[in-house]
Amino acid sequence: MNNTDIVIIGAGPVGLFTVFQCGMLKMKCHVVDGLPMVGGQCSALYPQKPIYDIPAHPAITAQELVEKLKQQAAPFNPTYHLGQTVTDVAKTAEGFVVTTDKNTQIQCKAVILAAGGGSFGPNRPPVDALELFEGQSVFYMVDDKNRFADKHVVIAGGGDSAVDWAVELADCAASVTLVHRRAKFRAAPDSVGKLEAMSVNGKVKLETPYTLKSLTGNNGQLQSVTVADLDGNEKTLDTDCLLAFYGLATDVSAIERWGLKTENGHVPINPATCATSVDGLFAVGDIATYNGKLKLILQGFSE
Ligand code: FAD
Repeated sequence: MNNTDIVIIGAGPVGLFTVFQCGMLKMKCHVVDGLPMVGGQCSALYPQKPIYDIPAHPAITAQELVEKLKQQAAPFNPTYHLGQTVTDVAKTAEGFVVTTDKNTQIQCKAVILAAGGGSFGPNRPPVDALELFEGQSVFYMVDDKNRFADKHVVIAGGGDSAVDWAVELADCAASVTLVHRRAKFRAAPDSVGKLEAMSVNGKVKLETPYTLKSLTGNNGQLQSVTVADLDGNEKTLDTDCLLAFYGLATDVSAIERWGLKTENGHVPINPATCATSVDGLFAVGDIATYNGKLKLILQGFSE
């Protein structure tokens, strides 16, 4: 059992700044986040977008802001539990015990919920037996590009992640095939231009308009992916890995089970104290709501 003063649920920009503020009050923090990295929406949804409304930064990319917040928190030595979703927050005589889906347990005096729109998770493609391959040959994000070196890779999706990774992996993978249900891609025009050039010179193969239909393989190792068009015509693509980029879904159902008062997926707070309906449990950032609330990073910092 870990023991600390404060557990912060959510390592988005607001959770990271909360570490700093708690540190200034000499409170030790453990920070839990379901994503494998810190930064919340900034890192997961728009790392390269410039942000213009952070004081003293006329412009800063979302990822730069996250790096600076992490640096600012570092002197207070927070303990991060990443890739773990908080499933339970139970009241005890001393405070709370926070439990994650990886069975980490942290005893603390108070909890600060900085959970944004809830836990993020990938939208999974609707194909059978997906779970047999997940983590071994089916992935929803690239944490290490080298994993795909010299592999035959099928990428599914038509947005920025799918297009950017098709372009990026073309240099190191044995082959890259991009499957999308439409002929048109919804990504930055510059990236789509690069993709089209690569498809002309054969570095990336485009399979449109196709969707994923089924997977074949053994012991978690994919051997092929079958895709189908709207008329039911099928093609089988031999592959070592599938990267599916169907966007991220948010889920607040875990939070709603902790006995907190919620309102349309948000947690009402007293804006003067950030107190929720549970004594000792506070909420800040996008998850917190009150009259006049704005879902902005600056607003979360001030809370
Ligand atoms: P989040 O950033 O959502 O982070 C919450 C974290 O909590 C997530 O990492 C999530 O995984 C984690 N979490 C949730 N539930 C659990 C759980 N049960 N267990 C473990 N972890 C959990 N704001 C601005 O001020 N300026 C801008 O220019 C701006 N541009 C934006 C552009 C886009 C495209 C988007 C989508 C948003 C933009 N925003 C902008 C809004 C801004 O990103 C949010 O206000 C901000 O991210 C909120 O921070 P947060 O820390 O409260 O939550």
